[in-house]
Amino acid sequence: PMETHVFHFDNSYARLPDRFYASVYPEPVEGPKLIKFNEALAKELGIEADFSDFDRLAATFAGNVVPQGASPLAMAYAGHQFGNFVPQLGDGRAILLGEVVDDKGFRRDVQLKGAGPTPFSRRGDGRAALGSVLREYIVSEAMAALGIPATRALAAVATGEQVFRETVEQGAVFVRVAASHVRVGTFQFFAARGDTDGIRALADYVIERHYPELKVEQNPYLALLGAVAERQAELIARWLGVGFVHGVMNTDNMTISGETIDFGPCAFLDEYHQMKVFSSIDRGGRYAYRNQPGIGQWNIARLAEALVPLIADDQDRAVDAANDVLQQFGTWFQAEWIAVFRRKLGLATQADGDGQLVQDLLSIMQEVEADFTLVFRGLADAAEGRDERFLAQFVEPIKAAEWLSLWRERLALEPQTDNGRADAMRAVNPAIIPRNHRIQEAISAANYGDFSFFERLLEALEKPYEECAEFAGYMTPPTPAERVTRTFC
Ligand code: AMP
Ligand code: MG
Ligand code: MG
Repeated sequence: PMETHVFHFDNSYARLPDRFYASVYPEPVEGPKLIKFNEALAKELGIEADFSDFDRLAATFAGNVVPQGASPLAMAYAGHQFGNFVPQLGDGRAILLGEVVDDKGFRRDVQLKGAGPTPFSRRGDGRAALGSVLREYIVSEAMAALGIPATRALAAVATGEQVFRETVEQGAVFVRVAASHVRVGTFQFFAARGDTDGIRALADYVIERHYPELKVEQNPYLALLGAVAERQAELIARWLGVGFVHGVMNTDNMTISGETIDFGPCAFLDEYHQMKVFSSIDRGGRYAYRNQPGIGQWNIARLAEALVPLIADDQDRAVDAANDVLQQFGTWFQAEWIAVFRRKLGLATQADGDGQLVQDLLSIMQEVEADFTLVFRGLADAAEGRDERFLAQFVEPIKAAEWLSLWRERLALEPQTDNGRADAMRAVNPAIIPRNHRIQEAISAANYGDFSFFERLLEALEKPYEECAEFAGYMTPPTPAERVTRTFC
């Protein structure tokens, strides 16, 4: 048998200068036990292993056995947390094992989250709690199934150890796969130190890794700012399209690749309200549903500040150029937002007033806190002349019925007949999202050793756009008693 699992590592980040990271090995855990392993993703990543040997998988993914070719390290980064700058954060509980190139030729990080202390841990224990690991697993895979860029879940392992949070919890390690873990905060780390060589080395690295097409640009660093801004604007528009609230859009939780990262106090909306937050510490609603595009732009402004020294020798010129890019963030966001919501409404063409039509719907939804997911799913039925499910989401259906008339007037302007419209709408309006109460149910049962709710929820989320009798219960919003208003990391 193989000594350890075979990963075909090629660790480019470890080849960057020393000050980019700290080399550190995972701290072995007492009783590693495999909770979940994503075999399909492991195969994509070219990992060779006996996938039925759960003990060995657990030992590898808990960090007890480090596979050959790994260069374990904790990345250095800084970041604005709730608007306050912290010059040194860094991976305090995450250890990058290395990078593999997947079956599409795409380089991806394999990282253990909760694998023990690092030089960046400060006061933390370097560990993760079972509940937060399960939440991250569920939401990552739900995002993938919804088709929204996000980091992926490769495995979850129980450590057999306790962690001390608000209460005593079981420890676990989450194995995360990402296009990379470079964040806006990684740039800020070097900028805060006046380390222009570091900023340049990092910018060159991410251009090579994520944006190689920019190398031929006249000003690749300015182009990088624009490319990251555009991807983030598009990503956030797509979050809004599924009712997603990230919850902690600190600059250290915003990737350069454009993937969603760090599923802590996040949630998908049940009842729609644009000021919804789920994080217990976000008292001001900084990261509320509707504030996300504005915060995205604010974070990109922090990236712009870090890139200024590379954009031009003359600082005023560099700032002007960076500001021009920042101005476009709103345009990029708006373009993607209206495209997302046109598809949700079954509109294949563009007409003046489409944005207003969407806003009108959202505002009547908010008045009665209608279920975000079921409203749009119900609208697909309405495209086939069955209005009941849509109307049933509104306590006061008169305005909803009026809105349907406006929507039908708009549909009359579409050149296509309604053939296929309902199906096209069902392909973009999910039936099944990872509802908070279902995640909570999975976590609560797992805390008592029952992982069946977790398993079943993951299965239900595999095909979010399909309705089937087996998973019909996963479409239902929470009862008042089931409602979860706070989520944690
Ligand atoms: P996060 O809230 O997960 O985005 O983490 C923010 C910062 O806190 C990062 O620098 C983390 O590495 C650090 N951190 C979070 N939890 C822990 C922990 N249990 N031990 C050490 N550092 C942590
Ligand atoms: Mg170092
Ligand atoms: Mg983070």
